[in-house]
Amino acid sequence: MIEDSLARKAQKQLYKAAKEINLDSNLLKILEQPMRILRVSVPIRLDNGRTKVFTGFRCQYNNAKGPTKGGVRYHPDVSEEEVVALAAWMTWKCALLDLPYGGAKGGIICDPTKMSESELERMTRRYTSEIMPILGPHIDIPAPDVYTTSKTMAWIMDTFSMMKGYTEPSIVTGKPEILGGSKGRKEATGKGVAIITREFFKAQKKSLKGARVAIQGFGNVGGHAAHFLSQMGAKIVAVSDVSGGLAHPDGLDVQGLTDCVEKHACVIKHPGKQIDKEDVLYHDVDILIPAALENQIHHKNAHKIKAKVIVEGANGPTTPEADEILEKKKVSVIPDILANAGGVVVSHLEWVQALSGLFWEEEQVNAELERKMVKSFREVWQARSKKDISLRCAAYIVAIERIAEVYRYRGMFPW
Ligand code: NAD
Repeated sequence: MIEDSLARKAQKQLYKAAKEINLDSNLLKILEQPMRILRVSVPIRLDNGRTKVFTGFRCQYNNAKGPTKGGVRYHPDVSEEEVVALAAWMTWKCALLDLPYGGAKGGIICDPTKMSESELERMTRRYTSEIMPILGPHIDIPAPDVYTTSKTMAWIMDTFSMMKGYTEPSIVTGKPEILGGSKGRKEATGKGVAIITREFFKAQKKSLKGARVAIQGFGNVGGHAAHFLSQMGAKIVAVSDVSGGLAHPDGLDVQGLTDCVEKHACVIKHPGKQIDKEDVLYHDVDILIPAALENQIHHKNAHKIKAKVIVEGANGPTTPEADEILEKKKVSVIPDILANAGGVVVSHLEWVQALSGLFWEEEQVNAELERKMVKSFREVWQARSKKDISLRCAAYIVAIERIAEVYRYRGMFPW
């Protein structure tokens, strides 16, 4: 079987939902393609004095609902196809959460683990200057993603501001609080994952108390999801990161794991039974949270999954072929565009705060996050109850119908 590209997989998910609602074929022609892709060369001086030229991308998939929004990823596997798929998912996610945004994504092909901080800074600043023609607080607003952090956002914000000649905090989200970042942004995605998991259990009249959870990836999303789920009474029995896997049938000490990752940058230095990192996916649990990278659950391993529900912390961790296998196995998959939307919800609040110059207390941010996540969960749950479809298809339907309504009012330029 020849694997589809990630962008093709994202298109397949769109087609499935479009078919369910009989979406206007003219609108589908617009939505199946990215609006704009910029490919840039990013030359920098390395610490050893040599020059290296990196390749970067920024894709703005669709801006019908507002400025485009999406993270920037630094990883050796970044590609144009990946950036397009991630930008498409951002478009549906922002529409599902009813944010005034379209979707975007950016990335640079690089191995940040092998670069010094000054090399990373020079690469970030040059990338920012190269994509500058399509950036702006009302055009396209970057945020952190895999291997980019609040520090990366500070460099983007400073470069943009220096080139414009004035300070512009609303050009990025996920920046440090002192620069206009929002309280609660760092933990927002993981917290959102926990809220959606809780709502799913509630909708089925089940309790999260004692539910067994396995988490692939213990970074920003996986680590915070573990923290909030264990606060809600769930037991984190297996985790993994790029270094390996760890398990304990009575539950791992989440705070201890977080401290270990902070100190050693890996989970396996923490006490517990070491297991193969791949086996975390097949652990005998109630809930599996893939929170690392895309394509982790595919047609070759989906049949090995024992969890009854998969909550997608990562973007695109389940392929369309795996979705079909899981549907037959009666495994519920709570899709990425709903489950991990907490980050962009609080990014929106950060943008609003930076634009207005008025900053909120953490309780206010968290209350708005809770309200938005619960509302979107209920909309998806209701859309699913009307038809015999998966939660992913239901989430896409809510998102696409919202975008279709925007197009109905805006029309097409020129007429
Ligand atoms: P991160 O860099 O903080 O963490 C990634 C984690 O995955 C690390 O623990 C890493 O070691 C682990 N990992 C990588 N390869 C692995 C493998 N093969 N097996 C097991 N673990 C592996 O990144 P993050 O911000 O937590 O993002 C994770 C995912 O969540 C990505 O798909 C990202 O697009 C998505 N996401 C992130 C946010 C956000 O706010 N950070 C929001 C929405 C979606």
